[in-house]
Amino acid sequence: MSLKVVPLSSSSSGNAVLVTGNGRSILIDCGIPVRRLKEGLESAGVRLNDVEGILLTHEHDDHIRTAAVVSENYGIPVYASRGTLREVKSRLDLKGGFYFEKMRTFSLAGMEITPFSTPHDAVQPVGYSISAGGLRYTQATDIGYFSPEVESKMLRSDIVLIESNHDVDMLINGRYPVCLKERILSRSGHLSNAGCAEAVLKILDSGTRNIILGHLSERNNTTELAYETTAEAIEKRGGSVGKDCVLVVANRRTATRGVEL
Ligand SMILES: [Zn+2]
Ligand SMILES: [Zn+2]
Repeated sequence: MSLKVVPLSSSSSGNAVLVTGNGRSILIDCGIPVRRLKEGLESAGVRLNDVEGILLTHEHDDHIRTAAVVSENYGIPVYASRGTLREVKSRLDLKGGFYFEKMRTFSLAGMEITPFSTPHDAVQPVGYSISAGGLRYTQATDIGYFSPEVESKMLRSDIVLIESNHDVDMLINGRYPVCLKERILSRSGHLSNAGCAEAVLKILDSGTRNIILGHLSERNNTTELAYETTAEAIEKRGGSVGKDCVLVVANRRTATRGVEL
């Protein structure tokens, strides 16, 4: 019984997360160059040929960029919500692919996959809860806020990957155009470090012990700020990172060691 989560790249420059349950592997999102995908997988001891499915969260470029090429060249099926699959097909030359109409649980590579809606400005965005051998992993990035649906899926998961996108001051004082700042800060945009920290406290209260922070902004965040904002919130409440929980920040452009249970 094992569950391993390895972020291969996690930022607006490209996303892909390897999930391996009982030795069988799938990817969540496929938005990085094939060379980087292969390097990341290799560092985790997995060959691209052995990946059994690609789950897409939504149609934004940083999540789908190489999905069609990888699916075609390596014979890996793509799964997405109906709206996302339609959008992906209008942008990429993706043949085939499977969609789920309702957020029902389905099986893939020996794992149980439960999609759930996320608050983001895409057609039909989702996060995923993945169970393997009694262990559960839940991932949601690209979320404007910690919605009740995201919360209910994340609570009591064994491993959680949640977005810690930006530091609000860096974003407000930075160079992004006003409309982009407003989009990121909106309830269908991205979760700030402070919003993430608040969510993580609730997740830890439910018994979860392994937290990965992901989808950090390239311009409006640093690894240290993301880590410290959540770590300080935990410590302020009398908790201890390392003792009470594992807190990992996913690298923006390279593979992170991740979490294995
Ligand atoms: Zn994204
Ligand atoms: Zn997005």
